[in-house]
Amino acid sequence: MFNDCPICQRLWNEYADATMTHATLKQKVEIAEFEHNQRAAQGLEPRMNAAEGQMNETRIAFIDHTTTHQTAEPKAKVLHARFSG
Ligand SMILES: [Zn+2]
Repeated sequence: MFNDCPICQRLWNEYADATMTHATLKQKVEIAEFEHNQRAAQGLEPRMNAAEGQMNETRIAFIDHTTTHQTAEPKAKVLHARFSG
């Protein structure tokens, strides 16, 4: 992550929020299933799946964005240092 980039920060926060929402809903579904409360579990599942979709979308958006930062490859630098020794 690039701390000085506002887009990175925004996308990362969106991903973190989606992850948190998904984890919370997943836990609720698991509790409902544990209590054999099928109605509650079935009611929560579409929301959990939507949160999972959101989580995947925001993750891809973040990764896609970070690739725009990769102007200087660390690997190339290492090779350069080794061969110009
Ligand atoms: Zn960025």
